[in-house]
Amino acid sequence: MSSQIINIVIGGGAAGIFAAIRCKTQNPHSQVILLEKTNQLLAKVRISGGGRCNVTHACFDPKKLVQNYPRGSKELIGPFHTFQPKDTVAWFEQQGVLLKTENDGRMFPTTDSSETIIQCLMHAAAQLGVDIRKQQRIVSIQKQGHQFLIQLQDQQISADAVLLATGSSSWGYSVAKDFGHEIVEPVPSLFTFNIPTSPLLDLQGIAVPNVIVTLKDTPLKQQGPLLITHWGFSGPAVLKLSAWAARTLHDLQYKAILLVNWLASQNQEALYQSLLQRKSENPLQSFPPLLPSNLLQRLLASLNMDPVTPLGKLPNKALAQLAAKLHADPYAIEGKTTYKQEFVTAGGVDLKGIDFKTMESRKTPGLFFAGEILNIDGVTGGFNFQNAWTTGWLAGTAMGEEGVDKNISKFS
Ligand SMILES: Cc1cc2nc3c(=O)[nH]c(=O)nc-3n(C[C@H](O)[C@H](O)[C@H](O)COP(=O)(O)OP(=O)(O)OC[C@H]3O[C@@H](n4cnc5c(N)ncnc54)[C@H](O)[C@@H]3O)c2cc1C
Repeated sequence: MSSQIINIVIGGGAAGIFAAIRCKTQNPHSQVILLEKTNQLLAKVRISGGGRCNVTHACFDPKKLVQNYPRGSKELIGPFHTFQPKDTVAWFEQQGVLLKTENDGRMFPTTDSSETIIQCLMHAAAQLGVDIRKQQRIVSIQKQGHQFLIQLQDQQISADAVLLATGSSSWGYSVAKDFGHEIVEPVPSLFTFNIPTSPLLDLQGIAVPNVIVTLKDTPLKQQGPLLITHWGFSGPAVLKLSAWAARTLHDLQYKAILLVNWLASQNQEALYQSLLQRKSENPLQSFPPLLPSNLLQRLLASLNMDPVTPLGKLPNKALAQLAAKLHADPYAIEGKTTYKQEFVTAGGVDLKGIDFKTMESRKTPGLFFAGEILNIDGVTGGFNFQNAWTTGWLAGTAMGEEGVDKNISKFS
């Protein structure tokens, strides 16, 4: 009778593959079997970051890093002390893959190709002897004593530990539920806003580098670049707000008023005062170039003003109106669009049921979780893959270590 430890990883995405590699590294004597439903591994890695794969983010302070997770920030602080972006960079470097940092902190392979990351992970898994099986349909999973019985269509596997890394699949949620876990309702995160009544739609392509977007009547606001699109607004500020407001917007059926502060670097009163000063010092001059000219012209037109009107001809009230509009310009959100952007699911397996030292279930010993199946999601910028690497690392480590202990006790 074989006493070999068998660890099963379900799901061949970033979290599952990384966990399987880690588990097999920790305990080379164990058998690590990865079961993937489709015939493609790492499918999201392939399309991620526009085909370049935004692997992680150059933020190396766990306290700052967790601020990028609308859900999961409290729970990830411990895990990030064990495995954080610095460790991700070092791990890939050990495998011969160098990452580079862009101005905004996003990290990509120097090849600018997600294939580099896929080949690296697949090579590491193959070298270690992870048994990867594609197109597997799992009929059921049951726990009998300390063992898990995984019923496949044509075979049954008895395993010592099981890792669920099935991303946002409803199947994964229902298995977690069967094993005693609560599921926080999954809703989309990271999307752009549809604003069909926006008078700016034909200005698509104009980017404003520093705006503050606020959901009216809520404390939810984000700052950063905004992009005008032919359906509404996109860009980092909007994507970040969509993440922090994912549940609120879902509850509002994606209908809400967005207030745009077009000049985040200057407050309303300071802008008003600077316009008054310009008017008194140079009454023949028109408006300063506060924003891209087409956009400023359009915003002024909505107040029946013209960009070439000398400021001396405008009453102070009009300048106050402009300052007010530029700092709280309302737009009616009516729906959402995902457009060539990464998107993730907010919601999933409730974090209270997980031990974040090991990613093991508090409900069912021997069951582990990693990646997007958990109620964890980050804003855009590489934070979602970092969650997959970190939680996959912890789960793989714990599964491997438990396996080592069991092997020792079996042999002693
Ligand atoms: C277009 C796009 C671009 C993105 N770009 C980035 C980016 O650049 N940077 C970033 O940080 N994040 C990005 N993300 C988010 C990131 O891809 C995910 O957060 C990450 O892939 C989650 O990894 P995971 O392994 O948990 O889940 P997944 O990648 O979803 O993998 C889950 C796996 O489980 C398998 N599975 C499901 N059910 C079963 C079953 N019953 N049996 C067996 N297998 C099953 C699935 O087929 C899949 O292979 C992007 C997302 C999208 C959609």
